Amino acid sequence: MTGTHLGMPAFPEAAREAVRDGVLRANLRHATHTIRDKRARAVAELADWDRLRAAGKAVKDHTLRHLDRYLLQLEAAVTAAGGTVHWAADADEANRIVTGLVLATGEREVVKVKSMATQEIGLNEALEAAGIAAYETDLAELIVQLGHDRPSHILVPAIHRNRAEIRDIFRTEMGRWGRPAPEALGDDPRELAEAARLHLREKFLRAKVAVSGANFMVAETGTMVVLESEGNGRMCLTLPETLISVVGVEKVVPTFRDLEIFLQTLPRSSTAERMNPYTTMWTGLGPSRGADGDGPTAFHLVLLDNGRTDTLADEVGRQALRCIRCSACLNVCPVYERAGGHAYGSVYPGPIGAILSPQLRGTSSEIDASLPYASTLCGACYEVCPVAIDIPEVLLHLRERVAQGGPVTRDGIRVTLRPAHGHTAERAAMRAARLLLDHPGALRAGMRLLARARRLRPRRLPGPGRAWTDTRELPAVPAESFRDWWTRERGNPQ
Ligand code: SF4
Repeated sequence: MTGTHLGMPAFPEAAREAVRDGVLRANLRHATHTIRDKRARAVAELADWDRLRAAGKAVKDHTLRHLDRYLLQLEAAVTAAGGTVHWAADADEANRIVTGLVLATGEREVVKVKSMATQEIGLNEALEAAGIAAYETDLAELIVQLGHDRPSHILVPAIHRNRAEIRDIFRTEMGRWGRPAPEALGDDPRELAEAARLHLREKFLRAKVAVSGANFMVAETGTMVVLESEGNGRMCLTLPETLISVVGVEKVVPTFRDLEIFLQTLPRSSTAERMNPYTTMWTGLGPSRGADGDGPTAFHLVLLDNGRTDTLADEVGRQALRCIRCSACLNVCPVYERAGGHAYGSVYPGPIGAILSPQLRGTSSEIDASLPYASTLCGACYEVCPVAIDIPEVLLHLRERVAQGGPVTRDGIRVTLRPAHGHTAERAAMRAARLLLDHPGALRAGMRLLARARRLRPRRLPGPGRAWTDTRELPAVPAESFRDWWTRERGNPQ
C-alpha cells in the first residue's frame, strides 16, 4: 500500500486516468444503463423471481458445504463417460497441465471460448511461451485480443470500446492473425459481426484443439454446460478433436435438475434474455461420439482451485463463490460505471471483483488491499445479484481484514495477517482518541486549546492526512466546544 490515502491507495490511482477519459465514460455509461434497464424489465416478468433467487442461493450454499463430495462424484461421472479429470491447485499447475495436453496432440494452435478461468491463470501467455497460439473466438474477447487489450467486463469484455474503435482494430489487426477484414469495413454492427464471422470460421475449420471454460458442471452426470449468445462457443466445443475445459471447482452443481434455476436466472440477469440463445452440454465421450461420432474424440477437464478452497474457509467471504458470473452487479455499480473494469486489476472487475480477487489472491498487493474500498456501499449490487451475494457485507469484512489483519487461510494453512501498511496512522489516531475519551479532563483541556488556536487551522493536513483534505474542506473549529456550550446553557452535566 502507498500512503496516499488512509485505506484507499491503489484502486484510486488505477482509476484516475479512466475517470478523466470522456469517451470511455460515455461508452460505459451508455452500455451499462442500456443493459441494466433491459435486465430490470426481464426480471420483472417473472412473478417467482425472489423464490428463484433464494433457490439458487440455497443450491450453491449446499454444494459449497459439501464441495468435496460433489467434486469426487463429478470426477467419477466424467471418467465413466470417457473424459479425463485433472486437478490443479494453482495457476502454474493448471497451465502446465493444459500446455502438456496441447503439446501431446502435436498441435501448435488452439481455439478458445468462455474461459474466464483461463484468463485468471494467464493461460494464453503460458501457451505462447510454449510456442502455442491461442485464438479467442468470443466476439468481445476477439476484440480484446486483436486490440492487445485487457477485458473490462465479465460479459462484454470490450464494453469500453465503441463501434468506430472496433472497426479500426479489425482493419489494422485481423490480417496479422489470419483472414484480414474487408477493405471497406464500416462500423455497422452487422458488418463488424460478418467480418468477425469470416475471420473466425477459418480458425474453427482448422483447429484440432479447443480450450473452454464452463458455466456449470453437473456432479450426478458429469455434464458440462456452456451458455453463450453467438454460437461460436458451440463451434469450439464440437468441431475440434480434443477439448480441454478449465473450470473453477465452485462451478459444480449436484443434479441436472438444479440447472433449471440457473437457466432462468442467468440469461435474464446478464443479457436480459428470457432464454439463453446457445446452451451447449456435453458429457465426456459417449458411445455415439468418440472416433465414429460427432464432437471431440478426447475430453480433458482441469478442475481449478487457485485460492477457491481458501476462500471457502472464510465464513463471511465464501458467499463470493456462489457467483454465476452474470455481471448484473457491474452494470448497476456507480463506481464501475465511472472507473471501468481495468482499474480493478483483475479478470473479475466491478463489485464481484472487489470481493473475489482479494480472496483468491490474498490482500498482500497494493491493488488487492485497495479493492474492498472500491465501492460506495450503496447496496445496488446485492439487490440485483441472482444468487443473493451480500457484496457490501463481504466488502466490509475485507476492509476489516485489511485494516486490522487477523486469521486467514492461505494455501490451506491458517495464518495471521498483519494490518496492511498505510493504516498505522489511522490506528495511532484511534488510540489517541481512545486515550482522550477515557480522560475527560484531558479532553476538555485539549478542546479549549484547539478553540484558542482555531485561527491557526491549516487548510490542508500534513502527512498521511493530506489525501483526505485534497478532496474535502477541513471543518472550522468552533469558538466554543459543545461541552462548554452545554455547561453555559444548562449547567454542569456532572
Ligand atoms: S456477484 Fe451476483 S450479480 Fe455479480 S456477477 Fe456474480 S452472480 Fe452476478
